[in-house]
Amino acid sequence: MRIFNTMTRKKEEFIPLLNNEVRMYVCGPTVYNFFHIGNARTFVVFDTVRRYFEYRGYKVKFIQNFTDIDDKMIKRANEENTTVKELGDRFIKEYYKDADNLNIERATVNPRATEYMDEIIKFVEELINKGYAYEINGDVYFNTKKFNNYGKLSGQNLEDLQAGARIDIDERKKDPMDFAIWKSQKPEEPAWKSPWGMGRPGWHIECSCMAYKLLGETIDIHAGGSDLAFPHHENEIAQSEAMTGKTFANYWMHSAFVNVNNQKMSKSLNNFFTAREILEKYEPDVIRLFMLSGHYRTQINFSIDVLESTKAAAERLYNSISNLENLFDEVKLDQLSEKEKDYIKVLNSYKEKYIEKMDDDFNTADAISIIFDLVRDINTNVGIHSSKELVKYSLDLVRELGDPLGILQKSTKSNLEEEIEMLIEQRQQARKNKDWSLSDKIRDDLKNRGIILEDTPQGVRWKKI
Ligand code: AMP
Ligand code: ZN
Repeated sequence: MRIFNTMTRKKEEFIPLLNNEVRMYVCGPTVYNFFHIGNARTFVVFDTVRRYFEYRGYKVKFIQNFTDIDDKMIKRANEENTTVKELGDRFIKEYYKDADNLNIERATVNPRATEYMDEIIKFVEELINKGYAYEINGDVYFNTKKFNNYGKLSGQNLEDLQAGARIDIDERKKDPMDFAIWKSQKPEEPAWKSPWGMGRPGWHIECSCMAYKLLGETIDIHAGGSDLAFPHHENEIAQSEAMTGKTFANYWMHSAFVNVNNQKMSKSLNNFFTAREILEKYEPDVIRLFMLSGHYRTQINFSIDVLESTKAAAERLYNSISNLENLFDEVKLDQLSEKEKDYIKVLNSYKEKYIEKMDDDFNTADAISIIFDLVRDINTNVGIHSSKELVKYSLDLVRELGDPLGILQKSTKSNLEEEIEMLIEQRQQARKNKDWSLSDKIRDDLKNRGIILEDTPQGVRWKKI
């Protein structure tokens, strides 16, 4: 597999640290609000990366943090007259609701910054001891000049960065690029006891510390939205590598923005739609298809029109799935014919192309086109005269290729249909066992619910009265 590494600006062969394991850390949300469709893209993209690794046989340790202490958290908690802790608890719950609804797999661990306070304080202490950080009146800063490789991720040196950066002028810092890793308490702020007095950690240090604690000194992949490459990830690298003397992450992945009218969707621009409100109107399959139909490194534009056309596309895929599910019950032949065995090879060629595209830096855009081609082929070639085995193979393949993208897993049958079919199956079993009282009971119970069973030469059929 090949991954575009932001660090080298090249696609590189993916070589994991351990044989079959991928250790990845993704920067997660600040839990002060519902997440929007822009954030959702980042979560969906890296969920897809993780699912695809799993599809290819890797075991994935997937860490995504919750930032539950920072300026935005404090401000919002004050506005809502609540504590930072309660605000975090609440929006972590809301995060899981939306993420689950978007079919995002749960992370191996979602660490909360406030639960790693002791470890973060130790990390800061270590950096001071090693001469990479200094304290001034309760604030601790990272000394960027001391870290030789500062700027390597964004490909700039300290001088360029200083010239281009809009940074707070703080006379107390040794260098304008130095950044706070520990902040002394201001009035009304939540704070933790530390060797430098009451205070709280800076944002960057939490990720360095939690990645180190949960995944070790060097990790395979570090990921996040492209706005995080500088300064967040640059600062994480400085802290972590200063601390361990080892490479922090072997591959850096950044996903591009969701825009609205060519501007980044963001809370501050107030041009956002929450995942929650979009999920009320659109199926998760539609939202994921929309997000994954562009390559993860290209920006995508959000609009209701695009969602509507994606919805129509998703319906085409599900029509085909529904057709195959119905065919499975209706076709008469069981086993593959010789001709069908050849056709299976054609079907498999789609899977090979799909894998080739996904192996090439997770090209979900092309992978989705291949699924559409596959479905078109199946629609033309699989029908009432096909065997059960071919129908099943086709259906399983469509679902198999949808799974890494987190789509196409739903059954098109309603719960009622599924339940009736299960009861019919149980009745058939009872009849085989000559348990006539059970088989009659199942038929009568269904009849009482308005469902009539008919025994036909093609098997049992049911209809509503
Ligand atoms: P935040 O809660 O703002 O820290 O963001 C959580 C994640 O969403 C980060 O990885 C951001 O880079 C990402 N993100 C924020 N806005 C967008 C956007 N418009 N498009 C894609 N990703 C975004
Ligand atoms: Zn982070």
